[in-house]
Amino acid sequence: VSVDTELAWGESHRRDGLRHDYGTERAVIDALLELFTRYEISATWAVVGHLFLDRCALVGDRPHPDVVRPNYGWLAGDWFDIDPCSTLEEAPMFYGRDIVDAIRRCPVEQEVGCHSFSHVVADDPGCGAAAFSSDLATCTALADELGLELRSFVFPRNAIAHVELLAEHGFTCYRGRAEHPRRPRFRLFDRVWPSAWSAALPARHSSGVWNVPQTFLFAPATRPRWLPHALWARRPRVRIRQAARQRSLFHLWFHPYNISADPDQALHLLDGVLHEVARLRSRGVLDVMTMGALAESLEQGR
Ligand SMILES: [Zn+2]
Repeated sequence: VSVDTELAWGESHRRDGLRHDYGTERAVIDALLELFTRYEISATWAVVGHLFLDRCALVGDRPHPDVVRPNYGWLAGDWFDIDPCSTLEEAPMFYGRDIVDAIRRCPVEQEVGCHSFSHVVADDPGCGAAAFSSDLATCTALADELGLELRSFVFPRNAIAHVELLAEHGFTCYRGRAEHPRRPRFRLFDRVWPSAWSAALPARHSSGVWNVPQTFLFAPATRPRWLPHALWARRPRVRIRQAARQRSLFHLWFHPYNISADPDQALHLLDGVLHEVARLRSRGVLDVMTMGALAESLEQGR
């Protein structure tokens, strides 16, 4: 399981502004940690690096002057113009030290991973190697101050680029896409009875980092309207059983806002998914691990 934890950073550069209600995100995160504790699930929390902070301020006339800015054609002004240069109390949607602390306090060990410092779009030509490298260095330095070692990276918007730089900054894995060498002919059929072609496996990038592909976006609120919740909920369960049967990967991912869109329903459905995971784990046919732990295990040839 990986959770893209970004509060307002994911959408603040959009022209149409914030589309989600972020006010309930902290409550949702607490509920998720409770759920992970109940089912003993260690998840990877891909946290935007700015959320490691509890405050920041202008240095001279701009925030974070050491960070090399991306230079996007679609953006007027400075990338950090959206930074409130304030505190956790005053601008809780831009700082998240309390969230990082809550994740670390979870009785079932959770992994704090990285979702870039400021949600940069890495595959845009405006984000060159210097900007991306500077972004990663900022994250690892902030994590270091908190006694955290970042191993797992999730690209904002799943826009994958500069993978070789991840290895240089100490990362061992990233969340990519599943590569299916054979062309699927019956995609719809596969949703109900998955066959071998759609089984996902991690893959080693030439730089040495592992691609731990995502396989299922958990976003029940965006399901087709004609599809009842109970039927929709079969989809992840079918995939979990596929992973157990074909010794492959099931990698569920979402943002807290995918839960907060309809929290009671989404948490109920997620409870059902994790219940199935725990059932198969207790039968010895499924392992549950973080992205970082999986990469380490693969690296050791297990
Ligand atoms: Zn800042």
